[in-house]
Amino acid sequence: MIITSAKPFEEILDMLKGEDDIFIVGCNVCAAKLKTGGEPEVLNMCRNLEKSGKHVVGWALPTASCSIRSFESLVEKNDKINEASCILVMGCGSGVSAIASVVDLPVYGSNNTISLGGSTGGELLLNLCVMCGDCTISKYGGLCPKAQCPKALLNGPCGGAVNGMCEVNREKNCVWSLIYDHLKKINRLDLLYITHAPLEHGVN
Ligand code: SF4
Ligand code: SF4
Repeated sequence: MIITSAKPFEEILDMLKGEDDIFIVGCNVCAAKLKTGGEPEVLNMCRNLEKSGKHVVGWALPTASCSIRSFESLVEKNDKINEASCILVMGCGSGVSAIASVVDLPVYGSNNTISLGGSTGGELLLNLCVMCGDCTISKYGGLCPKAQCPKALLNGPCGGAVNGMCEVNREKNCVWSLIYDHLKKINRLDLLYITHAPLEHGVN
């Protein structure tokens, strides 16, 4: 699941300065689960924009905003989009990009895209993966330090953990403690003897 958080409404309003006739596209998958772009949030956004003097021409809630492949598929959901002068997407960055590639209008995003995460037992898990493009998670028994260690240490731990809690964020387990516990449980502590080379952060 792509993790998003809603931008403050004032920021969205500022982004839409000079725009009117707004069409809103929500996302009925990840953003709906996170309450950043499902039907209640879209309707709330319509109301708040209208209250702020904006004109919302209509809205649509595709299954996933990132799955939109044509303008016609948006028209099928609500042909009011033909009256729009801009689109506000309440999904993740991929949803914004997918829609911007099929419409000839300015496209804005109402959310910040944070990471790939999940949820379990009602708890939202952030930063399970930061989509680095070179997955080495298997070398750590299936827990990713690039995503879950605030220092992104590939050869951890840093030594600052207290009682298994991270020194940067005391409310979070040190992922290196979790990696150790997990590798011990599966009898693969040998993986900790591997030294990982520094990451290449250059752009080709
Ligand atoms: S190494 Fe970590 S951040 Fe990179 S793709 Fe794998 S899980 Fe995601
Ligand atoms: S305490 Fe653990 S998770 Fe926190 S910065 Fe150090 S190694 Fe990373």
